[in-house]
Amino acid sequence: MMDLQTERAIEEIRARRAVVVGLQMPEGLKVRAREMARELEDATGCEVVIVGDPCYGACDLRSFEGMDLLVHVGHAPIPDLKPKVPTVFLEVRMDFDVRTGLQDVMDRIASKVGLVATAQHLHLLPLIERVLSENGREVHIGKGDARTASPGQVLGCNVSSAQAVEGSVEQFIFLGSGYFHPLAVALGTGRPVMCLDPYRGVVDDMQEMRDKVLRQRYAAMAKAQEAKDWLVLVCDRPGQRRLTLARKCRDMLREKGMKAEVLLLNEVRAEALLPYRAEAAVSTACPRLAIDDGPYYPIPLLTPWELEMVLGVREMNDYRLDQILEGDTPG
Ligand code: SF4
Repeated sequence: MMDLQTERAIEEIRARRAVVVGLQMPEGLKVRAREMARELEDATGCEVVIVGDPCYGACDLRSFEGMDLLVHVGHAPIPDLKPKVPTVFLEVRMDFDVRTGLQDVMDRIASKVGLVATAQHLHLLPLIERVLSENGREVHIGKGDARTASPGQVLGCNVSSAQAVEGSVEQFIFLGSGYFHPLAVALGTGRPVMCLDPYRGVVDDMQEMRDKVLRQRYAAMAKAQEAKDWLVLVCDRPGQRRLTLARKCRDMLREKGMKAEVLLLNEVRAEALLPYRAEAAVSTACPRLAIDDGPYYPIPLLTPWELEMVLGVREMNDYRLDQILEGDTPG
């Protein structure tokens, strides 16, 4: 069950008397974009322009000349990121039967658990908390930093809500789909993570996934140790633009006698790096890039923390998750 909250968008367009409205959606929802655009136009008389470029998160708010309002569908706002134009966020709630899923695995749930979820499923956390409490579990839902909008919310780039309670729990339960968010919780806290996934059911093999990813990351770092010629990647999407961190990476590399330039891209892709013929790259863009796509790049693609490990600034056994934290993308 998926509710796009079109009525709320109509109310906002009317209240703000918006004439030109941008409509931005993640890839999985774009199939409904034209239908929604027509509904908004018919109900309010506004003109809707659909933003067709890929959109991966609320870190990527688009605006164009003459736009009065952006309707951004599918993500919660990032509170410390100020949109350039007025923006209404339609978070899209997804319901599924968590009660049955939980009862099936109750004997594998620890006595002290933390709850985390992506924005689409946050509204289900109180129900899960109640079911677990009725079954004698101590439940913790942490408040993250100002990059997260609600307690318990995790992003692929920020698991501060989990880290806020990691000292009080033996296990996390993650509500959402895909493997990246629970992997980030596992890497960011070191605690076991059980997933309640609306598509895959209950999955609690994050330890295996975590070990596999760590093997890939150490292999990339070993290869990068040979490199003398680097690129430092910055993504131009406002909520990913860590330019200060990119400069720091470039300067560290140069101080160690390496060649390094900063490369700004809107869409970070392996082919975009080819003309520059570097031997390795460090990405300050979305942390998912290095972890998810890194193995498919022709050169090692590291996170900033991994770069510091390779350069000897950090111990090689002190692996940390790359996160974008409150204040890291100041405009
Ligand atoms: S930086 Fe990446 S993980 Fe973070 S909000 Fe953007 S797309 Fe999601």
